[in-house]
Amino acid sequence: MSIIIDKLNYIYSTGTAYEKHALKNINLVINDGEFIGLIGHTGSGKSTLTQHLNGLMKGTSGDIYYNGENIYDKNYNMKSLRNKVGLVFQYPEHQLFETTVFKDICFGPRNQGLDELQIELRAYEAMKMVGLDNDLLDASPFELSGGQKRRVAIAGVLAMKPEVLILDEPTAGLDPKGRDEILDQIAYLHKESNITVILVSHSMEDVARYVDRLIVMNKGEIAFNDTPQKVFANYKELEAIGLAAPQVTYVMNELKIRGIPVKTTPITVEEA
Ligand code: ADP
Repeated sequence: MSIIIDKLNYIYSTGTAYEKHALKNINLVINDGEFIGLIGHTGSGKSTLTQHLNGLMKGTSGDIYYNGENIYDKNYNMKSLRNKVGLVFQYPEHQLFETTVFKDICFGPRNQGLDELQIELRAYEAMKMVGLDNDLLDASPFELSGGQKRRVAIAGVLAMKPEVLILDEPTAGLDPKGRDEILDQIAYLHKESNITVILVSHSMEDVARYVDRLIVMNKGEIAFNDTPQKVFANYKELEAIGLAAPQVTYVMNELKIRGIPVKTTPITVEEA
């Protein structure tokens, strides 16, 4: 699996008073098995970008290649792309609608035209990947806690066996414990399945501990695209573009944990 984004632009409501250039000349490569954090202030273009990756939105200009094939070619099979790139929206529990957890998770694979046995096997496997106990099979999704509902929604996408899993703000609205649990679970499923994961967040702290690469968006552009430690080294710029994280001590600690020499002068860090 590989995704290449080549000079992608997206403009909302072209020619109206609401015109908004939401993606500006985005160039990006996403490789198989990566765990990527896509971060940026609200309105920086994260959702717009992710919706391009599974073809829900089409660029105003530019191209996207999935496994070397241009998804904007007129013969490209968009339906297969939607199966390969699974998108878990913000507050995905709002899309749960079946009477039981199990039926909800089976919904996606059923739409892929699999037979009943395969559908159920996929659902069991997906439940395991997100850490949902089989006791919950017959529960109504509406009886569950916030974190559990979110796991059901993620399992529903995983059951479709995507090659890429995009999670848009998976921790939104969860308490700190729920947030840590869901992030740990996502890290676990990435490790176990080696699926490519793109974790979208407006919070540096949420993603920094987990991902291999951070893509930082600012006003529709890619501001940084590197390992977390290299991105952190630009903490002043990150602060300037409104990223909540730098709480400088936090960043410094991360650098220390990761064994990165801290070369800054203007900010003094108290030694423990
Ligand atoms: P993020 O996911 O980082 O919060 P979005 O991709 O949702 O950012 O938005 C990027 C920019 O596009 C923002 O300025 C936002 O206001 C604008 N935008 C998003 N959706 C629409 C829309 N339907 N019509 C016009 N502008 C939009």
